[in-house]
Amino acid sequence: MAPLATFSVNNLTRLFPEPETIPDAACWVIVADKGIFITRDNDPVVISTSPPQVLGFTAKSVQYLGHRYDTPCYAVEIAPGTPLPENWISCGVRELFGRIPDDDLAIAAYAVQIIDFDRTTQFCGRCGTKNHQLRIERSKLCPSCNQLTYPRLSPAVIVRVEKGNQILLARSPHFPPGMHSVIAGFVEPGETLEQTVHREIKEEVGITVKNLRYFASEPWPFPNSLMCGFIADYTSGEIQIDNNEIVAAGWFDRNHLPGLPSKMSISRALIDDWIDQPIAMNRI
Ligand SMILES: [Zn+2]
Repeated sequence: MAPLATFSVNNLTRLFPEPETIPDAACWVIVADKGIFITRDNDPVVISTSPPQVLGFTAKSVQYLGHRYDTPCYAVEIAPGTPLPENWISCGVRELFGRIPDDDLAIAAYAVQIIDFDRTTQFCGRCGTKNHQLRIERSKLCPSCNQLTYPRLSPAVIVRVEKGNQILLARSPHFPPGMHSVIAGFVEPGETLEQTVHREIKEEVGITVKNLRYFASEPWPFPNSLMCGFIADYTSGEIQIDNNEIVAAGWFDRNHLPGLPSKMSISRALIDDWIDQPIAMNRI
């Protein structure tokens, strides 16, 4: 299967320790309150080769992202209340789907995530002392109690359940009207990914499954999930929705599919992978 490249940062190598000083030749992503800044063009500039002060921004903080080939790339947080250059506008990263190359989109989303890490870890969560950012890895150290803080990642499972030539699709109340998708849920402390799959399916639609197979994973930076995709076979039970996380669910065949998630997601990749498979004639 082709890699799910949308939000995996492919063209950026994290070379820690990060450079001691920012060289003249660098790349910049200007992070906004919500999203990033882009130029007002049909083909907007998202990753600039000019530093923020040359573009007309006043930087509050700068975070190393990694090297794009030989060039270090940085995320910039803008100092609040400072003037903004006229030819740049802020834009949500998801609004840039299809407007910019997938690799640039992934770097933009990553920049937002890393600036969020910096904003939300200014002080030690244990003792309140101002944290010190390390250069040898992506972490912060409390100089008082030595607690290390890393960017938050929330692992989640997402699973395609097959029953003969049908798959289980369900509706979250947060989905656009008519849209259905595969079952997903966050991993609890102490759980394996496999246990999460069984628990979430049982909780949300009341059925049991077997034959778990790993499919693929995808970072989903809205805000910090790591989606782990699986395929499973139906074992037993009638669909009983929980009416909380799921408001509708059913078995669908290829000829009667409901509205589906956007192409740039592992949920859609799981469904498309099934659609592309030959129909089994001898399955239940
Ligand atoms: Zn501390």
